[in-house]
Amino acid sequence: MNKNGLLTQNETIAALPKHDRTAWLKGGKHSCLMPPRAQISKPSRIILLGAPGVGKGTQAELLCERLGTCHLSTGDVFRAAKCCSDNELSPAMKNALDYMRRGDLVPDETVLNMVGERLKCLNCSGGFLLDGFPRTVAQAKALEQLLESHGVKLTSVFNYDLPIEKIVARISGRRTCASCKAVYHVATRPPKIADTCDQCGDKLLQREDDRPEAVKVRMEAYENSTRPLIEFYQQRGLLITIEAEGSPEEIYQRTWRAAKAS
Ligand code: AMP
Repeated sequence: MNKNGLLTQNETIAALPKHDRTAWLKGGKHSCLMPPRAQISKPSRIILLGAPGVGKGTQAELLCERLGTCHLSTGDVFRAAKCCSDNELSPAMKNALDYMRRGDLVPDETVLNMVGERLKCLNCSGGFLLDGFPRTVAQAKALEQLLESHGVKLTSVFNYDLPIEKIVARISGRRTCASCKAVYHVATRPPKIADTCDQCGDKLLQREDDRPEAVKVRMEAYENSTRPLIEFYQQRGLLITIEAEGSPEEIYQRTWRAAKAS
């Protein structure tokens, strides 16, 4: 870091403590304990697109380390809500969790209300990396209006591309930490100790919506509702397509090179 507290060009901030995502995971009334990790001269505002299981979550973690942005996953907000007791959840959120268990998309109105309660995360001076949102054209249009009304501009939209059979193989081996949400794969990114998170030592679990019957529904939802976003962002000159074949590190290097070249 230079004397003004800004990151120098080649510096990563991997050595700094992780972001606190309280405001994102718990909603508007909550604040981050550490917003943002460092002053960033040119904050990145990125959207990740791609079918479920293509590896967006892993790339999000790696990119956030490098860019100093916060990882804003709408799926993580719903998974965090699953841990709340029934009387803590609004009827809309209870309904949303039923959609999620089946692998279906949560209705746009619920998702947009939830994101609307977290506007300060989209306005954060550290930038953001959106993972899993937007997922429909209606969500993308609403996000566009929201950002425009706050004078916030997107930097890029990375679209991860991989044949469907490879995606299904990735999903079936995926395991997620019950506490810190770090993502592993039994074959390609195994933890040092089986079923145990390297970062916090908690148990690794298979997500309910990674079960085969839910995966089928999620793939259909992607094809029908999310794939059209490729054209939406292409028309706006923001789309960068990345081949998602290879190890997480290889895909990350490819992403980084593409981002620098854009
Ligand atoms: P993800 O972890 O991004 O795959 O999200 C897990 C589940 O949460 C999805 O299968 C949906 O049920 C729900 N979900 C997350 N984000 C959205 C969104 N932007 N729109 C609709 N449903 C969503």
